[in-house]
Amino acid sequence: MDPTDQTGQERWSVRVGEHCIGSGMCVALDPEHFSLENGRARTEGAQVTPDQRYIDAADTCPAAAITVTDADGTELAPT
Ligand code: SF4
Repeated sequence: MDPTDQTGQERWSVRVGEHCIGSGMCVALDPEHFSLENGRARTEGAQVTPDQRYIDAADTCPAAAITVTDADGTELAPT
């Protein structure tokens, strides 16, 4: 798969799994990209602009509930 969109911008996919325990650490770390709704984290999801903060949130999530993949499906975080 082409790792870029039509503008040539690389895209990542960021997913919050069912096992999110609602700790809020990702929201505290990166409130621009994460929020809490009904005790679970939410984020933009697919086709986001790469940002180190997604990686940091995934690496610090106590439940390892955040997964960041590149456009090829390669898992970038948690590491
Ligand atoms: S840090 Fe992990 S467990 Fe905590 S709210 Fe975010 S996704 Fe859920």
